[in-house]
Amino acid sequence: MKKNPSRRQILQGLAASAIVIGFSIDQCCWVTSANAVSIFEKLPQLDGQLYTDSETLASASVDFGNIIHRQPIAVLYPGSIEDIVQIIQFARTHKIKVAARGQAHSTRGQSQVEAGIVINMSTLNKIHFVGTDRAVVDAGVLWSQLLQQTLPQGLTPPVLTDYIGLSIGGTLSVGGIGGATHRHGVMVDNVLELKVVTGIGQLETCSQLQNSHLYESVLAGLGQCGIIVQATVKLIPAATNARVFELYYDDLATFTRDQRLLINDERFDYVEGQLIAKDTGGWRYMLEAASFYTPPNVPNNSYLLAGLNYNRGTEKIEDKTYFDFLNRLESTVAFLNSIGVWSFPHPWVDLFVPNSAVETLVAEVAASLTLANTGQGPILLYPVKTKRFQLPLFRIPKEKVMFLFSILRTADPPDSSTVTKMMNDNRKIFEQNRDLGGYIYPISSVPFSGDDWKQHFGSCWEKLVSAKRRYDPDNLLTPGQGIIQALAPNQTAI
Ligand SMILES: Cc1cc2nc3c(=O)[nH]c(=O)nc-3n(C[C@H](O)[C@H](O)[C@H](O)COP(=O)(O)OP(=O)(O)OC[C@H]3O[C@@H](n4cnc5c(N)ncnc54)[C@H](O)[C@@H]3O)c2cc1C
Repeated sequence: MKKNPSRRQILQGLAASAIVIGFSIDQCCWVTSANAVSIFEKLPQLDGQLYTDSETLASASVDFGNIIHRQPIAVLYPGSIEDIVQIIQFARTHKIKVAARGQAHSTRGQSQVEAGIVINMSTLNKIHFVGTDRAVVDAGVLWSQLLQQTLPQGLTPPVLTDYIGLSIGGTLSVGGIGGATHRHGVMVDNVLELKVVTGIGQLETCSQLQNSHLYESVLAGLGQCGIIVQATVKLIPAATNARVFELYYDDLATFTRDQRLLINDERFDYVEGQLIAKDTGGWRYMLEAASFYTPPNVPNNSYLLAGLNYNRGTEKIEDKTYFDFLNRLESTVAFLNSIGVWSFPHPWVDLFVPNSAVETLVAEVAASLTLANTGQGPILLYPVKTKRFQLPLFRIPKEKVMFLFSILRTADPPDSSTVTKMMNDNRKIFEQNRDLGGYIYPISSVPFSGDDWKQHFGSCWEKLVSAKRRYDPDNLLTPGQGIIQALAPNQTAI
């Protein structure tokens, strides 16, 4: 928790400038950041703290992407769920926009809000309960934190993202894909119950059986209908170890054929893959697969590698603890932080490519891609089965298999012309994939218009707008991506 300033200090920053931030219904006038001082004075007592000092505001206007910078007028570090209820009701009265911030690992201002209130979820971080098949956690808990508590009890969430230092609320608002997705779906498919504060400022409980409309509007719902404050997530028995295989290929079609084989027969627990730059130019391919086990049982390598056509003799096989495997990116993140590269802009593009189009698209993109225009960032390519996905707002191609294709760029040098070029390239690849029936994973940095969002949600668009009207009628929540810019006044809610 941050150090507590006095209420006077908290409010001082607001008087410095006077931007219009909303319309006060009770005072019937425009609210500016200058007169918000007096409005914030009317805030009810909070269990946590509301900050308006310039340092806190500046840090809330930066995310991992470091491309978009929108400065809020206040940042709430909630001390309780009730604080979030209070702040949303307050924001609603004064028509001030609000966004939740998990770990701000998104890349295009998704967790930012210009002249609004950011709710920094990191203080809502209690693990309330760990049972044999589930855990009840606050939304600000990190997956790594949850694992520290579940692994000693021999339990794990079924699917985890490659980096586990992400917040549970932040990943559940986007989807959460990983190497175990071919078996277990995305993180949002493994949620039993949610507690959500809607844009009306009401605390609601929802699940597939109770209040399912809200549940489906919030999971992978990009923060449009509510702030997730607590989640009951599935747990399954965890192995203690992982045997990790890296298999190398020269040929894209052979690589993807083997990946498809592995996700179909599910002989591995985890399947991913990457494009790797060759010293001589061009790309080769690395299939990464892991088998989880608990000694004395050990994986049978011959069985696991049978029928695969990788380049014999180049394979790498390593045993790790299960946690070290899940936490494998931690040392890379620490290193990139230590040399300052972690704070460079990250114009990432993450696409869901239909199985039928993957070789064509990837070959075409890879032909003009060099390490310089990825900034040495990794390029992921792996398949998953779409029948595992249950949530309508997690938008995916209409085929049985799709591939995640992610170009995780770092703008190096970190200047605006490099960023602009990378963003333009992202847009081009997005359009190519869209025209082939593919979708964007909306953690990406791709310039997107209102029409793009309409196209993205397709048959779900009207449902999302209706849900927005029902749960956030003042259109206050999560404006960062410009998904729903305005609600038509006479639209009927479902
Ligand atoms: C190194 C790295 C590796 C990654 N690996 C993967 C991966 O393997 N698989 C994958 O799927 N993704 C991956 N991601 C992307 C990541 O899952 C998303 O960016 C995710 O949103 C980040 O979580 P966060 O806590 O940082 O959320 P934020 O970036 O803080 O928030 C993301 C969005 O969710 C909203 N939000 C945050 N908390 C809540 C809440 N409690 N309720 C409602 N809305 C909320 C925010 O307003 C924002 O719109 C990776 C990102 C990084 C930086």
